Amino acid sequence: MAEATSMGKTFYIETFGCQMNVHDSEKVVGTLLRSGYEQVHAPDEADLVLYNTCSIREKAAQKVFTRLNEHKASSKLGRAQWREGVGWIKQQKIGVLGCVAQQEGEAIFEAAPHVSLVVGSASYTKLPELITRLEAGEKRVTGLSLDTDETFDTEFTARDNPYRAYITIIEGCDKHCAYCVVPFTRGPERSRTSASVLEEARRIVDLGYTEIQLLGQNVNSYRDASPAGLNFAQMLAAVAAVPGIRRVRYTTSHPRDFTREIVQAMDSHPAICNHVHLPVQSGSTEVLRRMLRDYTREDYLERIAWIRAATRPISITTDIIVGFPGETDADFEQTITLLDEVGYDSIFSFQYSPRPNTASLALDDVIPDSEKGQRLRIVQDRQRQIQEERYQRFLGTECEVLVEGGASRSAGDGSARWKGRTSENLILNFTVPTGCDPVPQTGSYWRTRVTRTAPNCLIGEAFAGPVFTPTRLRTTSPADHRGSDSTPPRSSREATIGSRAQRLDAVPFRIL
Ligand code: SAM
Ligand code: SF4
Repeated sequence: MAEATSMGKTFYIETFGCQMNVHDSEKVVGTLLRSGYEQVHAPDEADLVLYNTCSIREKAAQKVFTRLNEHKASSKLGRAQWREGVGWIKQQKIGVLGCVAQQEGEAIFEAAPHVSLVVGSASYTKLPELITRLEAGEKRVTGLSLDTDETFDTEFTARDNPYRAYITIIEGCDKHCAYCVVPFTRGPERSRTSASVLEEARRIVDLGYTEIQLLGQNVNSYRDASPAGLNFAQMLAAVAAVPGIRRVRYTTSHPRDFTREIVQAMDSHPAICNHVHLPVQSGSTEVLRRMLRDYTREDYLERIAWIRAATRPISITTDIIVGFPGETDADFEQTITLLDEVGYDSIFSFQYSPRPNTASLALDDVIPDSEKGQRLRIVQDRQRQIQEERYQRFLGTECEVLVEGGASRSAGDGSARWKGRTSENLILNFTVPTGCDPVPQTGSYWRTRVTRTAPNCLIGEAFAGPVFTPTRLRTTSPADHRGSDSTPPRSSREATIGSRAQRLDAVPFRIL
C-alpha cells in the first residue's frame, strides 16, 4: 500500500453485467492493488479507468459505448492533472475489459480512440504485463486470445460483498446455444482443480465468510482438472463439507448436464441452499431444438421431478427468452404452460436479442419487437400471479435469513425493517422486537416468522437476537488481516470491502 501511494498510481473500475463479471472485477481489483495501484472512487481521480463490460444483449453492449462517451465528455482525459502531494500526473488511460472487449476487439480503438487497453476475460492472468506495457507508453495494448486452458486463478481477490464470497470453479462455455455470445466472449470451458477450489474455500472461511457461491456459465459441466477427477456434484459436496461454511449456492446450471447426483448432494449436505436456478429458455421442444439447447421439454420436466423429490423443499428459478426466431403462438403458449407446471419462485425473462457470430442470426421468421414486448409482458404477468400463489406457502413458517442490510422502506408503524435472504434465495424483509439488542448486523443470521407476502418478497418479524453471528463481525475488521511482508499470511491475501451491488467502484478498499 505504501508503495502504491508513493508511486501515485490510481485506478477506478466500473462493472456491468452478471455475477461472473462482478467476481472477475474483484480479482482484477486484487491484481491491481498487488501491482502497486490504489483504488479510487471517481473516474476523474484515476490514472487508469477500467470498464468491465457485458455484451449478452445488444442493449448491454450499447450501454458501454454510451458510458465511454460520457466519460470522454466529462473528464479531463487529454490534460495532465495536478494531484496534491503527487504533482502533475500524465494523461489518463482508459481500458475496456470483459465481454465487449473480446467481442469488439481492436474496433474499440476506432469507435472510442481515447481507449488504450482492450482485454477479454480469458487474458486476465496477463493483466499485470499488459498494464506495464501501457505504462511504458504503448498506445494500444490488447489481450484478446481465446486460445487458453488457463483460469483466472488468483489469491489476490478484493472481495466486495460483505456476506457472500464468490468462487469461480469453471470458466468459458462449450455449449454454443444458438442465441448466445458467451462462448465467443469467454472462450472454451476450463475447470479449476478441486484442490485450488477447496483451498480458496478454506481461505474464505478464515476471513470469516459463511456463505459461498460457486460460479460458472455451466457449473454442471465442471470436471476437476486434477487426477482426483471430481464431477460437479462431488465438488459441491466437498465445498459444503468445509468446516465453517453455513450456506453454499451455485449458478448457473444447464439442464442437459443437471444430474440426480446433484440433488443427492443437496440432500446429504444441509449447508447447500434450498435453491436451484435451472434456465429453461423456452417451454417448446421445437424452439429448444432451434436454440441448440440439447434437451426437450420432457427432459427438463424430468429434472424438475428429481428436484421436487428431494427430502426438503427446494425453490426453483429460471431464465426465459421470448421471441426467439420462429417462435409461434403455440410455442409461446408452451412456455406459459411450463411456468404453471413447474411453479417457479422467480424468473429472469428477456426478449431475444440478436448477437454477433451466433447461429440464430441465420434463422428466418424474425419476431417483430412489438410482438416480443407483448410476449414478455404476458410471461411476466403470469409469473407474478404464480409467485403470489406460491409465496403463500411460507405464511406462518419460520425461516432463517442472512441479513443483507437495511430494507429500503420502514414497516407501516415507522419501525425499522431489515433485509434478509432465505435459503431459497428469496428476499425477506423483517422487523425485530422493540428494544432488541443487538440490532441485526449485515452478515448475521436471524430466525424469522413470515407474516405477509408481497409480489417479490416475504415480510416477517424476527425472534429476539441472532441465531449466528460470524466471527468476522464479532471480533475482526479487515485491518486485523494485515500482513507484515511481501508474502502475507494466508488470510491476508484477500480482504473484504463494503458493498454496493454490481458496482465495485463505490466502496473504499485496501489490500492488507
Ligand atoms: N449459462 C447460462 C445458461 O445456460 O442458462 C446462462 C448465461 S447468460 C449470461 C444468462 C441468460 O441470458 C441466459 O440464460 C438467457 O436467458 C439470456 N440470454 C443469453 N443470450 C441472450 C440473447 N441473445 N437474447 C436474450 N437473452 C439472452
Ligand atoms: Fe450461453 Fe448456452 Fe453457454 Fe449458457 S450454456 S453460457 S446460454 S452458450
